[in-house]
Amino acid sequence: MKIVKYPHPALRVQAKPVLALDKDIQLAAGHMLELMYASEGLGLAAPQVALDHRLLVINFAGDPEKKDAEVVAINPVITETKGAISDREGCLSFPGLYQSVRRFKTVKVEYYDLKGDKFEMTCHDLAARIWQHEIDHLDGVLFIDKMGSLGRSRSERDLEQFIADFEKAKKKGDLPPGLEPKL
Ligand SMILES: [Zn+2]
Repeated sequence: MKIVKYPHPALRVQAKPVLALDKDIQLAAGHMLELMYASEGLGLAAPQVALDHRLLVINFAGDPEKKDAEVVAINPVITETKGAISDREGCLSFPGLYQSVRRFKTVKVEYYDLKGDKFEMTCHDLAARIWQHEIDHLDGVLFIDKMGSLGRSRSERDLEQFIADFEKAKKKGDLPPGLEPKL
């Protein structure tokens, strides 16, 4: 399992609801947590490891020692939103790219854990931002889609570089030669 980078087509897939909490989901969640911590991220969604499940992992503190800040969320949905706030945002599938993105300030989220227990959480600011960013991934939506026109134009050079790196990875054999980029 590896984190795929833009413009890998897996990032644009609409992920499917998880219908059974089987061994594959448990293993996927464990690997995703490892990858997230190894990359010092705050969240990672299944499409970022080329899996099309509605599964994501978060650690609100970004600290593997802080298990109480860790969430494995299955089939998460945002049920309420309030306010708006712009702040700097990044993504493990766009290493090095940070831009201001406008998000809801507060969100209420419902999700299931790996045992199938249902949870409800109301979050503000950074925690609310992480939920919105990660749940967007499950719908094939990326933070570049949510940037304002200024942030987007400031990102163009990085995006061109990601596209060039994607083509290079295909030539090197790190990605399948026929894989089509999805911008
Ligand atoms: Zn992301």
